[in-house]
Amino acid sequence: MSKVLNFNAGPAALPRSVLEQAQAELVDFNGTGMSVMELSHRSGAYDEVHVQAKEQLKSIMNIPDTHDVLFLQGGASHQFAMLPMNFLHSNKVGYYVLSGSWSEKALSEAEKIGDTKVVASSKEDTYSHIPKELALDSLPNAAYLHLTSNNTIFGTQWGNFPDVNVPLVADMSSDILSKEIDVSKFDCIYAGAQKNLGPSGVTVVIIRKDWIKEANKAIPKILQYETHAKANSLYNTPPTFSIYILSLVLNWVEAQGGIGAVQRMNEQKANLLYDCIDSSEGFYKGHASKESRSNMNVTFTLPNKELTEKFLKEAKELGMSGLNGHRSVGGCRASIYNAVPLEACEQLVEFMKIFKGKN
Ligand SMILES: *Cc1c(COP(=O)(O)O)cnc(C)c1O
Repeated sequence: MSKVLNFNAGPAALPRSVLEQAQAELVDFNGTGMSVMELSHRSGAYDEVHVQAKEQLKSIMNIPDTHDVLFLQGGASHQFAMLPMNFLHSNKVGYYVLSGSWSEKALSEAEKIGDTKVVASSKEDTYSHIPKELALDSLPNAAYLHLTSNNTIFGTQWGNFPDVNVPLVADMSSDILSKEIDVSKFDCIYAGAQKNLGPSGVTVVIIRKDWIKEANKAIPKILQYETHAKANSLYNTPPTFSIYILSLVLNWVEAQGGIGAVQRMNEQKANLLYDCIDSSEGFYKGHASKESRSNMNVTFTLPNKELTEKFLKEAKELGMSGLNGHRSVGGCRASIYNAVPLEACEQLVEFMKIFKGKN
């Protein structure tokens, strides 16, 4: 068994027990004599997986009956386009909060579809914080307000979400299922699965049923939320294996004690790392300002490029993988999603202290 500690930003660590169960069931799923990958997506055996994943997500995240859960494909990036195609019509305006590269990408897709407006941005501060000055009282003719709940690349995360009287949409790709949230506040939440939910290939969309009715009907059927909602995400062949792994991850979350327990563990993990950064007398510097720090992606720099390279090299030799920062910002980043165990963070902190002492 390899002893790699996986700090990858995405695709990211999955719980070991999930992988082991998938391995044990790989060639014979539930007595069917077939792999879950080989089952018809219309079969009873697969349907159980599909329905259970959906119901379990609803129960774990406390998703109200006003909202539907869809399993789509194309990742969060596909949602960047699908959302405005559905809702940015009739001369309405898509409002965007820019808090990082993913928000920028979401905005640039919407710009191709209709009118957009940036309501707040922290770009000038290299996205080191969630924008503070939010002028959200008046959003005339709004189709929706879009935000990115956790900025995977810069390591910032929203604390309290804004109260607005227009449809609120969040890209939660990198912090869904990591903490308790009030789903009823949002008209749409979407997330590619490969950070906290499972493997890549499935995109979870949680969307208010009444809002779907307001969507543009003049776009291709496959791009309409309504199509997938009506067909229980079985309009076309869904990514069955990814949904199966998602269902195993949801079992794992329940076994941890649910989302509250996972949240407390995540806070503990993040605090360990931030305490280490803050008590390093400036040797390690966090990229994010304190009030915007992410519990999922801890970004930091070392005094210079040579030390950064040395740090990453030595970490790798100790089996710590994925600690290099995103190519656009450099430095280091420890992604500590749900499935990254506390011990991995403890070992990283120990290494950081020793490395600082020696250098
Ligand atoms: C990873 C990520 C994306 C991109 O997801 P894809 O599934 O690759 O399209 C978008 N938004 C956020 C916040 C992410 O972390």
